[in-house]
Amino acid sequence: MIKALILFLMLAGTANAQFVNVPPFRGNTVGGFLGDIDSHLRAGHPYKERDRVSWAHETTHGINARICDEFGVANGYYLLDNRGFVLAKSGVTLRRLANAIPQSMRGFVYRTYLVEAQQWSNEDALFVVNELIAYTNGAIVGKQLGMTERYKESRRKGRILLEYVEILSILTRESYYKDQKNFEMLIRAIDLVLAMDSGSVMIIIPIRS
Ligand SMILES: [Zn+2]
Repeated sequence: MIKALILFLMLAGTANAQFVNVPPFRGNTVGGFLGDIDSHLRAGHPYKERDRVSWAHETTHGINARICDEFGVANGYYLLDNRGFVLAKSGVTLRRLANAIPQSMRGFVYRTYLVEAQQWSNEDALFVVNELIAYTNGAIVGKQLGMTERYKESRRKGRILLEYVEILSILTRESYYKDQKNFEMLIRAIDLVLAMDSGSVMIIIPIRS
């Protein structure tokens, strides 16, 4: 569905939706994808966790916030290898998205991210993209480090979140109508996330030996 939609969305607008360069603050001292992620926040940041998949996930949220600050946007996301993307507000609340998801597609993360999260993050349903990117980066780190169970868990959650984002992309068509660049950007970024997750986009960040 996603790929078919892209074909209809080739008209670029003037929105701030775009891929952005996100340079690291310091060298990759941890190694691998985890080190890539960690180096994009300053030393001593509060997102380091003992579990390295959680470390990657939480630090990704931290970098997403950094991107929002630096680019003055509502929604920023980090895709590894110094790449990020930004999006304008979706105009869709988390509650509206939650209600649009059919019972059969809700899955085991629905309560946490679509219902309970409304208490602190109802304003914009793009919150689910924030979680999708954090789980995808966590899965990529888990895979590289051979943490099979943690990898599978992150990937499973990411897959459900991706289905939510596909529904969101339909809901945002209306709100992004005046500037399709946002919608196109969302679809392209999701496509890239999928390609990264499946290994068809190769990013070479070796583990430190
Ligand atoms: Zn998270």
